[in-house]
Amino acid sequence: MSSEFDLIKRYFTRTAPDGYLGVGDDCALLPIPSGRSLVTSTDLLLEGRHFLSDIDPFLLGHKTLAVNVSDLAAMGAVPAGSLLGLAVPDVDHAWLQAFSEGFHAFAEACGCPLIGGDTTRSVDGIVISVTVMGHVDPKTVLRRDAAVPGDDIWVTGELGAPDVALALLQGRLPHDAQLLAATRPALEAPQPPWRFAQRLGGVGHAALDISDGLAQDLGHILRASGCGATVYYAKLPIHPGVASLAPSVQHHAVLAGGDVYQLCFTAPSSQRERLHTMANEEGVRLARVGVTTTEPGLRILDDNGKQIILESAGFDHFGDRA
Ligand SMILES: [Mg+2]
Repeated sequence: MSSEFDLIKRYFTRTAPDGYLGVGDDCALLPIPSGRSLVTSTDLLLEGRHFLSDIDPFLLGHKTLAVNVSDLAAMGAVPAGSLLGLAVPDVDHAWLQAFSEGFHAFAEACGCPLIGGDTTRSVDGIVISVTVMGHVDPKTVLRRDAAVPGDDIWVTGELGAPDVALALLQGRLPHDAQLLAATRPALEAPQPPWRFAQRLGGVGHAALDISDGLAQDLGHILRASGCGATVYYAKLPIHPGVASLAPSVQHHAVLAGGDVYQLCFTAPSSQRERLHTMANEEGVRLARVGVTTTEPGLRILDDNGKQIILESAGFDHFGDRA
């Protein structure tokens, strides 16, 4: 590799934590506590498809790791390390500096150090691949197929803001500087509840992170678990900036808007008090939004008990967000 592209060494190498072997050898080493299983996931992000070209590179660095840590959270795993593949058309030192700082800041915050990677020149546009690794107790790992009829359905954080911010940036909603300022942080700097999620194993039944919209993502749990659900719209944790929008715009943003990177999970009703305590201790907003049923299908009911019908159950602004 040309020294020009020895960017991992220049921008991405940090001192590895105790017990790790980080960037610099043929492979990296990371410790896994005994009795735990390795959990891993990878994600590919293309400029113009998964992120806008003019996004602040510090926020992009944060988001590329955060969306992967969100997947670890969805399994109830403890983050342990990450790998980065990065292809850029040109070496833009200011961009690389800011991107790496955003990545490292979140890596340090959630204990997911970058322990290896590779960089190269792309033909066109920026391509980013992140692989995260974590560990989990295999007996209490949160799977999509573990919901039981009668479970409470819970959502962390707030819904709706990322979709509204993106619609404003893309001109699908009329210009509104105040609304954009209120919703943009949720789109560009998602904060998955990784610490709360580590305590969810053995408490919750099934979980996933909301990346494609609540309705579609909850549908994955219901199909995998062979049950249905009733969700009460009035109980959903709606971002305050979204609450003032017209019902059709709001329903779409809340129920079908992607890029949320918060958890949707089910748990037996006996765990209500414990879940509220955990959420308070971890500073996480937690809402009980519905119940799983033996009757298949997802029913989302408004204040009058009338079913809300979405034009598209799964909304995907860029085409194929996984
Ligand atoms: Mg996921």
